[in-house]
Amino acid sequence: MELNQQIEEYILKHSVKENKLLAEINRQTHAKVLMPRMLSGHLQGRILSMISLLIKPKIILEIGTYTGYSALCLAEGLSPDGELHTIDINDELESFILKYFHQSAYKNQLFLHIGDALDVIPRLPNNIDLVFIDADKRFYLNYYQRVIDKMKPGGLILADNVLWGGKVINPIEDNDEYTKGILTFNDFVQKDKRVENVILPVRDGIMMLRKV
Ligand code: SAH
Ligand code: CA
Repeated sequence: MELNQQIEEYILKHSVKENKLLAEINRQTHAKVLMPRMLSGHLQGRILSMISLLIKPKIILEIGTYTGYSALCLAEGLSPDGELHTIDINDELESFILKYFHQSAYKNQLFLHIGDALDVIPRLPNNIDLVFIDADKRFYLNYYQRVIDKMKPGGLILADNVLWGGKVINPIEDNDEYTKGILTFNDFVQKDKRVENVILPVRDGIMMLRKV
């Protein structure tokens, strides 16, 4: 076995286990849904959960639900009267997501919005404590701009895949709008005085942004 793989296994063996519901979503996503690599998975899921538990958010926003795995990880930290809003543009995922949301202990606190995040975000509550940006990489900066004024001071934005498989450090192809989207976002927030930012080199890179 390759070293990285052994390290990954060691890490997972010494991290909190996935609960049954998350393990089931993980399995069913790999069995039934296109592009299962997009699912956060065990390690990233536990990191999202840990961060949320530290913040105890009243309002969480997730942009890009996919099969609901990361939403349920983030929900673990919700304050008892808190709510999690999650948006996905793909209506074919709706019944899959809701099936698992209904089995969750947080079911009454979860709100799934089917639609384009750029349209949905302005209709959602203000004073957001925690945001997870994980939808279309071409529009990361647009999501950020829609969200930043709706955040509580001290609130946290997590943006996933900001290393984009390492493409951020290589010359970009002219037609690669995805890499351009990520680069534009990373460069913009680096200069933006409204946030303090640091990239966690976990998996595909998670940009943490704290609103000052
Ligand atoms: N957060 C999930 C993975 C998300 S994958 C996890 O970690 O498990 C990205 C998702 O973003 C896909 O399901 C896709 O349908 C959705 N998406 C793409 N463009 C979007 C848009 N404009 N608005 C909302 N969702 C979008
Ligand atoms: Ca992701």
